[in-house]
Amino acid sequence: MDAGKYTNAYLLWSALMPTEPSVHSQSTSRPNSRESDVASPVKGFATRAIRIGQDPDSATGSTIVPIYQTATFTQQAVGVHKGFDYARSGNPTRIALERQLASLESARFGVSFGSGMAAAHAVTSLLSQGDHIVATRDIYGGVHRLLTVIMPRYGVTTTFVDMNDLDAVRAAVTPATKLFWVETPTNPLLTVIDIAAIAGIRKPGQLVAVDNTFCSPFLQRPIELGADITWHSTTKYINGHSDVVGGIVITDNADVHAQISFHQNAIGAIPGPQDAYLTLRGAKTLALRMREHVKNAQIVADWLDTRDDVSEVYYPGLKAHPQYELAARQMDGSGGVLSFRARGGADRALAIARSTKIFNLAASLGGVESLICIPTVMTHGSMPVAEKIALGVTDDLLRVSVGIEDVEDLIVDLEQALTRSQVFAVA
Ligand code: PLP
Repeated sequence: MDAGKYTNAYLLWSALMPTEPSVHSQSTSRPNSRESDVASPVKGFATRAIRIGQDPDSATGSTIVPIYQTATFTQQAVGVHKGFDYARSGNPTRIALERQLASLESARFGVSFGSGMAAAHAVTSLLSQGDHIVATRDIYGGVHRLLTVIMPRYGVTTTFVDMNDLDAVRAAVTPATKLFWVETPTNPLLTVIDIAAIAGIRKPGQLVAVDNTFCSPFLQRPIELGADITWHSTTKYINGHSDVVGGIVITDNADVHAQISFHQNAIGAIPGPQDAYLTLRGAKTLALRMREHVKNAQIVADWLDTRDDVSEVYYPGLKAHPQYELAARQMDGSGGVLSFRARGGADRALAIARSTKIFNLAASLGGVESLICIPTVMTHGSMPVAEKIALGVTDDLLRVSVGIEDVEDLIVDLEQALTRSQVFAVA
């Protein structure tokens, strides 16, 4: 991969910037730099979320990163400007977000997008015709569609494997394999995959990319575990308030960053400044929110697990989860999403999903409000039925995103929904 080929004015500009700015100092503020402050003396996660990329605005002193609602930037002379010339190529609000989130993933570079799927597509832009991907089997439906419907049209093929079976992963690798596509925990079955073990299989010329959406960097940092790329639907925990659709690709590899930036500028899949601002603001409270999500989800999972009319609960924080120990090692908390099956099959699942009063019946996850959905028809509607059945993504499966409301209220709500739907339970 030839970084030089992809260099644009901004990458050049960014390379010229000093690499160790103060976290909070007007004199060294550098709102235009694209590189995150990995060398910053500020190490704490919550402090970085609130400070990195967010020096006072160099033009006005604004304490909060402004929303630069502009399509273009006026130049002092032709080609002489302050690091920005056109907002598809760069916008200071967006760059603040990219620096903040890259720092949270312990990496130097972030490129933010208009959706998680645009970020996923940007990862595939690293590949060329004839290349091959080895991917997690039970994966988000939209990513499955990208890899099985869109990418084959460009000559890029994917083999889906159970990534807990490392022999199966090795066996799936071909001379054309360029990318390991990992999602952990998986959506919607919460399977946990050993990121370091997959990185151990990677050979030179291959990359490991991890969809870290379900964890957020507060719970899991794939690049620290050996991955080359981590990406997110920032729509979920990172923004955290269900009011923005967005995505980000993060890497510490300058060549990968150059290619992704080049692709973004060429394709134009950018977030608007208002969305970048909201996501930056949301991510400031990521640590606080994630602690509550994990605490509430564990209580809800434990409670569901005690019920006779609930046949299965999928949550990495339960001792019976097949990868409980791996999750405890790899993640700093078991996450805020869980799935379950109640006795009574699809009819009962539908009745439960209709009966909750606090949990909204909605696709998505990671917001402060609790949501419930039936993945097979909602989030995974685009996946072929036979594949869903083979994985266990069937119409009796419910997925909940446990929010940060009072957990007692959440349990009362689930209890009344289970009670109201009992008519469908079979003996
Ligand atoms: N990855 C995962 C795990 C998801 O759950 C989703 C969306 O639900 C995406 C990626 C796609 O993100 P977006 O909806 O922001 O495009």
